[in-house]
Amino acid sequence: MEYSRLLSQNLLPLSKPSKPWSCSLIKLCTPLLLFTAAFFVLSAYKKSAAPPQYYHNLFLKAGSNDSIAKHLKKLTQEPHVAGTPENFATADYVFSVFQSSGLDVHYRDYQVLLTYPLSRSISVSLPEGEVIPLKLEEDRIEDDPSTSNPKVIPTFHAYSPSGNVSASVVFANYGREQDYAILRDAGVDPKGAIVIAKYGKIYRGDIVDLAAKAGAVGIVVYSDPEDYGGNRTQGYYPHSKWLPPSGVQRGSIYSELGDPLTPGWPSVPDAEQLSVDDPRTKLPLIPSIPISAEDAALIMKSIGGSVAPAEWHGALDLPDYRLGRGPAVLNLHYKSNHTVTPIRDVFAVIEGSEEPDRYVLLGNHRDAWTFGAGDPNGGTATLLEMAQRLGKLIKRGWRPRRSIILCNWDAEEYALIGSTEWVEENYDLLFSSAVAYLNVDVAVSGPGFDPNSTPQLDDLVKEIANEVEDPDNPGKTIYESWVASIGDSPQPMGRLGGGGSDYAPFVQHAGIAATDFGLGRDFTVYHSIYDDYMWMATFGDPLFHRHVAVGAMWGLIALKLADATILPFNYSTYAHNLQLYVDVLETQLKASDAPSTRVSTLPLHKSIAELRKAAEYITKKAKEVGEGGNGELKLIRSLNDHLFMAERAFTDREGLPGNPWYKHLVYGPTNTNKYGTTSFPGIYDLIASMAAGANGNNNNNNSSKSWDDVQHQIWRVSRAIRRVALVLRGEFT
Ligand SMILES: [Zn+2]
Repeated sequence: MEYSRLLSQNLLPLSKPSKPWSCSLIKLCTPLLLFTAAFFVLSAYKKSAAPPQYYHNLFLKAGSNDSIAKHLKKLTQEPHVAGTPENFATADYVFSVFQSSGLDVHYRDYQVLLTYPLSRSISVSLPEGEVIPLKLEEDRIEDDPSTSNPKVIPTFHAYSPSGNVSASVVFANYGREQDYAILRDAGVDPKGAIVIAKYGKIYRGDIVDLAAKAGAVGIVVYSDPEDYGGNRTQGYYPHSKWLPPSGVQRGSIYSELGDPLTPGWPSVPDAEQLSVDDPRTKLPLIPSIPISAEDAALIMKSIGGSVAPAEWHGALDLPDYRLGRGPAVLNLHYKSNHTVTPIRDVFAVIEGSEEPDRYVLLGNHRDAWTFGAGDPNGGTATLLEMAQRLGKLIKRGWRPRRSIILCNWDAEEYALIGSTEWVEENYDLLFSSAVAYLNVDVAVSGPGFDPNSTPQLDDLVKEIANEVEDPDNPGKTIYESWVASIGDSPQPMGRLGGGGSDYAPFVQHAGIAATDFGLGRDFTVYHSIYDDYMWMATFGDPLFHRHVAVGAMWGLIALKLADATILPFNYSTYAHNLQLYVDVLETQLKASDAPSTRVSTLPLHKSIAELRKAAEYITKKAKEVGEGGNGELKLIRSLNDHLFMAERAFTDREGLPGNPWYKHLVYGPTNTNKYGTTSFPGIYDLIASMAAGANGNNNNNNSSKSWDDVQHQIWRVSRAIRRVALVLRGEFT
């Protein structure tokens, strides 16, 4: 079932690329020597190969759904949670495919804190004395043997502390701050209670943190059929794509990134390591267990008190949803094994022919909560098939201008650990030499393009999406289908401020331009036992054509970034987006009654105007230097350096207030939702905490000191934007 065969007829004769300069040698060279060397390599290169476009076309035509399906089948044979022998076996597989594709392969191990469930139980004690134990098991499906695999990890929340608690229950909707405000208004106090909350609106770690902050002693989180069960007339998997009522979303509840024992530094062998009970690890404080809709119904039936607001009602089979607390008592027991365990990142490197010390990185994680057919191994299978295609191009004489690194991360599910440790270890080299990072996590969960990027890459992502046919809309490109689906949304591209996947350390810590995309909008069996090969081959992507399309976009974006003489970065788009964020900020300030004498957004307007001018200046300069300006290597190199280094200038040594690890001042998580993609998170959090203070939710008050803090954060962002403009201009003041 291949799309088309690579390397059929009328190709160039096989020719070896000229010997590239060794990376380590280049690093030692003086800049002058570097330019001279690059010039000679370029001259030799041009004699032996076709123009990049020729190879890009070859790449595009070479996609093989058959290979992707085979890789996915292999990767999803066994469940492979990080730190298990089964996941080391998938690392071996990735290594062997990279190697047999003719790429330079290596791996890097880290020793990190992972957690596994030892035992768990939940029961409901009714007032009349009856005790109902919850099942805490997902139903096996006869036609899908994977679901009977005894190695599947029990349903649990990674990093939950061990605990034994019994308390009356309170229902907290999606567990957000505003939900607790409604509970408070209704006179329901979660202090000392066990909270039951729904998945779906905020990061599960924030659901647990906010419950702990509200005084709860334990929490259970469930997937309501309203959010995960479709319209409930189609049935559930295996009859439809929807999550069965016994399905459970596993997941981590840790709210920081990377190994908890090495916050901010890499977990290399013999590294400084905190102890597990050190508060600097910021590990979760209350025991937490994820449960199914089926089990949740047993708890919800036992809750009395006033009826919950209409919008809190889901689709459990109940007369109504009530707030509690009690009268039923929940008994929650959880025992965890917190253990330091090795994990393994695997890398394949294609050394650039002209600028081997400039890197385009592509990444995907490999570890999964269960089989990971959707999350993440559709992405891994696509990465492997892409490696094979690139290997074939190399055999045909192609070498990229810049180096390409394929990264396969481990322990993403726990806290983006593999990528974060690697970025922390290689921070300075990445800072000075990474052109962009291109992430794919869940490659496919169904139809529909879901693009996210830092704004200077918007144009490139759209351009490439317009070169790839939409497998669900023959005759239309992915871009055309996407435009038709988004209506007139002012900014349809998603941004990378949340912590949803491995792009986070690259963008938010190191300030590297990035993209993250896939096909499919609702991934119904996410982190459940049903995320297996059969689900994918039946519902997610029966012909694996969607995977091929994702591979085509991923690879082409990488090839354009690796081969373009002048990097296709557009900072006018960035300026435009920053202006949109200022509009949102001004609305937020108005709504919070910010005193106009103390808070002004003028510094932002001024710095964005500077950036706009600098963006126009460098675009003009790029045109002058021109795509064909090979004689002007110094100029090209310097222009490109300014283009990719400009993103770094959005970062700041001191980082976000209260969390200095997050250095990017425009894109980062907010304090109450690590999945959120709010812009200017430092400013947003201050205003939000003051609004909460005005409502009596915390100790902050709407004082002039706090508004001065807001103004200080506005100045910090403005200064960062000015720094970006300066880098783009490339001249000292
Ligand atoms: Zn994932």
